[in-house]
Amino acid sequence: MTRKLVVVGAGPVGCLAAIALAKMGWSVEIYEARPDMRLPSSREAAQQRSINLAISSRGIAAMQAIDPAAASRFLDSVIPMRGRLIHDSNGNLDSQLYDRDGQSINSIDRALLNQGLLNEVLSVDSIRVLFRHKIVSINFDGRMIRVFDVGKGEELEKSFDLCIGADGSYSVVRRQLMRVVRMDFQQVYIPHEYIELKIPAGTDNRNDPVFLLDPNHLHIWPRHSFMLIALPNKDKSFTCTLFAPTTEFEKLSHDDQILAWFKKHFSDAFEFIGTEGLLNSFHQNPRSPLVSIKAKPYHYKDRAIILGDAAHSMVPFYGQGLNCGLEDVRVLTALLHEEGVHPTAGQDPDDFDLRLARALSRYSESRHEDLIAINDLAMDNYVEMRHSVTTPAHKLRRMVDNL
Ligand code: FAD
Repeated sequence: MTRKLVVVGAGPVGCLAAIALAKMGWSVEIYEARPDMRLPSSREAAQQRSINLAISSRGIAAMQAIDPAAASRFLDSVIPMRGRLIHDSNGNLDSQLYDRDGQSINSIDRALLNQGLLNEVLSVDSIRVLFRHKIVSINFDGRMIRVFDVGKGEELEKSFDLCIGADGSYSVVRRQLMRVVRMDFQQVYIPHEYIELKIPAGTDNRNDPVFLLDPNHLHIWPRHSFMLIALPNKDKSFTCTLFAPTTEFEKLSHDDQILAWFKKHFSDAFEFIGTEGLLNSFHQNPRSPLVSIKAKPYHYKDRAIILGDAAHSMVPFYGQGLNCGLEDVRVLTALLHEEGVHPTAGQDPDDFDLRLARALSRYSESRHEDLIAINDLAMDNYVEMRHSVTTPAHKLRRMVDNL
């Protein structure tokens, strides 16, 4: 008998989990609250969120382990960033390479990555994706899920054998799990927010688009209590993210205040962004909060588990949130293999449930310490990026490292 997996959320982690478990023989249904992001009408809304992100070897290794062909297609569309380029207040630049042997992190378009994974998902016969279907509640003991079909305006009930919650920071699956699991849980909002800005492509003397900054660096303008960063895009623009305390943003209510503040702290970036670009972004783009979430355990018996941001949302300063979520899928898949969970092999049902419960329990036990460590590193790296990189102690340490 083929077992049925329900994945909640068609973000990158949900998509990769669906592919991985479909390959093991599960019959998969993905429920996604939003419309299909590949439709032109939903693209604009998706663009409001972070445009690009950094994928490191952690995320690449996970994709390669599960779908090597897709991983190599994604690698074709990345821009390697070999180090960070620090822009000080006087316009001086300091290149700090990430690795002596040339290893890099990679800037990738978030929508392209998610759409690419969705295309992979939709090419697998045993996976069905239901967009505009929002999970409302879950009865884990009865193995039933309640779904709101946004198009029809009605609720449905669906059965499942295993439920994967990949429904992001405000996970419904996690909240439902808390009713049946003694879950330790911590949610912390930092007193900082972010807003996205854009450095457009320039043009050369043949009118072709060119990068206005070095594309092979992650650019940082550290200003101690706040900072600006910029990552390159394939169209030769840069997506910038301004991170600052809410109290700092609240001082900027008029256009002249925004312009004066930005010119004072980021004069070289301002030259590229321009008055109109800056004001448009401040008025049109959301100012979003930053949340850190820790939980334990991540599973319930043999029937549910949370992965990705649903399990461990982290502040973005280490660039590892999604990388870790993709790694969750790799680790879970390896444990399912190790425990001999075969959803189609005519395994005795009791034996199957036992093995599955063991794999999920081993996941919670073995994964927690690593996830907490990286979550804490992400928090610490904010101070590193906005302040420590500018200090004499940091410069001295780098000189010693390079000896
Ligand atoms: P999500 O991408 O949040 O997807 C969850 C999906 O679930 C969504 O499609 C949502 O619509 C759906 N959903 C939610 N509720 C329901 C429901 N009830 N029913 C059905 N569907 C539902 N990470 C990196 O690795 N590198 C970076 O450089 C990086 N930069 C970042 C920059 C910023 C500013 C931010 C905020 C984050 C950054 N991250 C980065 C983190 C990264 O964005 C997240 O870790 C990643 O998106 C998590 O993926 P996910 O699939 O777990 O969740």
